This record gives sequence, structure tokens and C-alpha cells, in this order.
Amino acid sequence: MDKISFKTDIYMGKGALNRLAEWRNKRIFIVTDPFMVKSGMINLLFERLHESNEQYIFSNIVPDPPVEVVTEGVEALGTFQADLIIAIGGGSAIDAAKAMKIFAKKILDQRDISFVAIPTTSGTGSEVTSFSVISDKKKNIKYPLVSDDMLPQEAILDPDLVKSVPDFITADTGMDVLTHALEAYVSTKANDISDALAEKAIKLVFAYLPRAYKDGGDLEAREKMHNASCMAGMAFNITSLGLNHGIAHVAGAKFKIAHGRMNSLLLPHVIEFNADYKPGYGKEESNATAARYAEIAKNLGLPTSNARSGVRSLVQAIKQLQKQLHMPQTLRDCGVDQNTLEEMREAIAEGALHDGCTATNPRVPTKADVIEILNK
Ligand code: NAD
Repeated sequence: MDKISFKTDIYMGKGALNRLAEWRNKRIFIVTDPFMVKSGMINLLFERLHESNEQYIFSNIVPDPPVEVVTEGVEALGTFQADLIIAIGGGSAIDAAKAMKIFAKKILDQRDISFVAIPTTSGTGSEVTSFSVISDKKKNIKYPLVSDDMLPQEAILDPDLVKSVPDFITADTGMDVLTHALEAYVSTKANDISDALAEKAIKLVFAYLPRAYKDGGDLEAREKMHNASCMAGMAFNITSLGLNHGIAHVAGAKFKIAHGRMNSLLLPHVIEFNADYKPGYGKEESNATAARYAEIAKNLGLPTSNARSGVRSLVQAIKQLQKQLHMPQTLRDCGVDQNTLEEMREAIAEGALHDGCTATNPRVPTKADVIEILNK
């Protein structure tokens, strides 16, 4: 038996940020990154928040937020005695706020604090998930935390907030969306409802990511990518993820490669592994996961005479998309040399097998399988 619940109210579309004006008489703890303050984007919040509220800004968030920043936030949250947290920023700001919220509840024994998430990248879907990824920068490890207590009460998807995202971050985060949706689609926990969300998200990525990359001011493309990110988040909140994320969490931390970019590098190879796809195989050689990927290829209007050709078409389409977005396609392209890879691949493979996301991968990997993927 599966249980699906959607706890987060979603306000979406142009003008959605105006929803903030509804909050009155609150002590609001705002979690954000320095860019939001420096660029003045944070003022979009202040222009809308009612004067009866008190605000505190915590703007120390850095990408892949470390545990020390979370600890600092918990202290500030407790001192301020907040009753509403607003996280505005990319996945890093939202994830850090989620961790602050649950640790504040545990450590400071505070009552439950309301939580609004406002994504300014279209990537993680964190505004609707029970996940938060926190880094241990000393050990170069990322820890995915999972708790329904971290689910935001409200998410605000306003495309105006994403216009300023630079093209390379649009590409990285957009490929994160695609990875979420594809991993949700082939997860061992996939069902008809997660499939619907994932299928639509995948279609939106192929249709609108190149447009959002080419012209950041293309509001229609920005809005569609924002929706795709949220839908992919809803999908994987039902199904969890897979080996792609399992490896990306460890390898991204070790090689210091942005999360979406690391996912993108791995994606074609993890698909081929999951589908047991090898170029020399006969056409009857395919597994149930290959058939699932072929359904996606068919949905995208790609050539699919059988499961195997569907997998090939999907992989080619992904590589083509990466080229359109001028993305790196190998670890070497990201500056990781052969010696570094050889030194680290055992530890990465070990870590990936133990990452929580790997548990729902459709094909159980061995350490040697992960090393083979990394070598590619
Ligand atoms: P991010 O939050 O780390 O931000 C990346 C960069 O984009 C930062 O420099 C930030 O200042 C900048 N930025 C953000 N919004 C901007 C805007 N509107 N204009 C200009 N610049 C902007 O990136 P992300 O990819 O959104 O989040 C990545 C983090 O989320 C990683 O830690 C990853 O592990 C985690 N993650 C979490 C989940 C989840 O379910 N919680 C899922 C996937 C990834």
C-alpha cells in the first residue's frame, strides 16, 4: 500500500510573491544567501511584508550548506524567537532553513514554526520535499536528511525571481530537474501518480530549458522550468531517487562540482547501467527499466522501435541537450584528472552504495559497477 500526501500549499505564477502580504504579526526569520541581499532582490520581500511583522535576516548561506552554518542559524533562530521562517534562494538556502527548523525544534524545544519556501532557482524542488542536503566540508561528505517535519507549509513559485539566474546555473539546475524526474520514473517506488508528475516535468525540461538558458528574461520558459522543478520534486518526494543521486552526493562533495552539474555528468551512464544497455547487445536484450526509459523516449517523440532503441534515443537526446547548454560531459571537462579519479573512486563507490538515495534504484549496483560509471 502506498500513501501519498501533499502538505505544501503552492502559490504559483507571476505575482505569486504577493501572497507574502497575507502574513501579519509574525516574528519572521528570513534565510537567504548573500547574493539576494547584495543584488537587492531581498527588497522584493520587504516591499510585500506587512509592517506588523518583525524581521531578522540570516544571509550566511553558501552553496552546499555546511553543518556549521546550520548550527549558527539554529542559535539565531532561538534568540530571535521566530514563529515563521521564510527561506528565499536556491536549494542551499531552503535546505539549510529546513535543517535549522528541525534542529531548533529538537535542541531548543521550540514549538513548531511555520515555514514558507521561495525558490529562486529552478532545480532542487526542495520547496515541496522532505529532504535536505547538508555538507560536512572537513570530511567532504554530503548528508541527505529526510523528515516530513521539514516540509514547507507554503511554497511560492514566482518566475520573476528566477530571471537573474546566470546561464550556467540555469543549465546545472535544469539538469537537476531532469535527473529528479528520470530517477523518480524508474524508482522501485514509482506509481501512476509519481509517473504523471515525472513525465510532465521531463517534457517541460526538453521544451523550455534551452529557451531559459538562451534568454534568461524569457518569462514563459522560466515559469515552465519553475513548474517542472516543483513537479519533479513532488514526484521524487513520493518515490525517492536512485543511484545517480547516490553517486552525485559523494562525488560532488569530493570533486567540488555543483550538484546539478554532477548529476548531469552521470545521467547518460546511469541510464545505460540501469537499462543494462551495452552497444553490442542484440535487440532482444533489455530489462524492464529499459522499457520504462523507452516510454519516456516515446513521450518525447524520439525514435523507439524497441526498448533498446528507446534507451539509445533518450541517452542521445540528453547528450544533445547537454551540448546545447554548453555543459561538460566528462569529469575531465570539469578539471578532474586521472590520478585524482583513481585516488578517490573506491571511496566514492563505497559512499554511493551507502547513500540513502541508492536504495530505490531499479538495478542493484556493485562497487565495481559504480567505478565503471565513474571511469566513463
Ligand atoms: P544553490 O542554492 O547552491 O545556488 C547556486 C548559486 O546560484 C548560488 O551562488 C546562488 O547565490 C545563486 N542564485 C540563486 N538564485 C539566484 C538568482 N535568482 N539569481 C542569480 N543567482 C542566484 O543551488 P541549487 O542548485 O538551487 O541548490 C543546490 C543544493 O540543493 C545542493 O546543496 C544540493 O545538494 C541540494 N539539493 C537538495 C534537494 C532537496 O530535495 N532538498 C534536491 C536536490 C539538491
